[in-house]
Amino acid sequence: MESKAKAVSLDGVRVVLVEPQNPINVGNVMRAMKNMGVCRLSLVNPAEMDFERTQISAHRTQDMLETMQVVGSLGEALQGVHESYGFSARARTQTWSQLELEEASRRGLGVLFSGGEIALVFGREQTGLTNDELSYCTHRVYIQTGDYASLNLSQAVLLAVHGLFRQARPGASEAGAGEGLVAVSNHAPGSLPATQDRCRRLLGQTARMLAEIGYFKSDSPNAAMHRLQNIVFRAQLHEDEINLLMGICAEVSNYAKLIARGIEPSRQCPPRVFEEYTDS
Ligand code: SAH
Repeated sequence: MESKAKAVSLDGVRVVLVEPQNPINVGNVMRAMKNMGVCRLSLVNPAEMDFERTQISAHRTQDMLETMQVVGSLGEALQGVHESYGFSARARTQTWSQLELEEASRRGLGVLFSGGEIALVFGREQTGLTNDELSYCTHRVYIQTGDYASLNLSQAVLLAVHGLFRQARPGASEAGAGEGLVAVSNHAPGSLPATQDRCRRLLGQTARMLAEIGYFKSDSPNAAMHRLQNIVFRAQLHEDEINLLMGICAEVSNYAKLIARGIEPSRQCPPRVFEEYTDS
């Protein structure tokens, strides 16, 4: 019987290259993307701007060259994205969970199926992505290889976009019409979590609040903030939940500021709130 399921659109996919060194490699990446029907490319601080050279290897990609974004930071490249996948060949020492490509593709497709946007993030040809850049991404992904794990940049991109392309085919999801994909990503259509930049704004506000109440005892608050970031990304918060938490942070900050100025803040709280949430 012929499947009635439709292909999931790959329009919400963007490929992000961090500091690519060589325009020929960028051209090969464009070619790989074109082959798999992925059009949006962002470059973060490319070493060379002679993009006409990309056309040596990237046939029929003039349209992509025209829409290509060149930005100054990874944060800018990830504006409006719901999930980002940082690709790395290297096993990291941190307690990061890494997804295998197929799992990541299914997850990404779930986000796309629900109307969201995803970014596939790749590192420099020589040195890959830094730990900080990887921790900026909501997920880390590796592509299985033999003993020598380091793929050429455009080959890594080709495998990544091909992974999505295969999953996006009509009928690729066993549950049909994307239900299996949603089960993987937890994002039901129409109820996407907040974008990654909103999560980072919450984290920024949290960091300011924690600094104001003197939470950071050492000079390096980064470890605590990375762990908080992991919690926030894992929680897949919705916009109203982000607003609630940002509001709480703002109130705590104001409270700390009043105390610092020697002013006694007013405490008004209905006592029943405590009764409901404390064991007695
Ligand atoms: N020598 C670098 C490799 C850079 S290859 C290093 O050891 O990190 C350029 C980019 O291709 C990498 O930053 C990564 O994003 C991607 N890549 C290469 N091989 C990969 C693999 N096996 N799994 C996932 N991504 C890979």
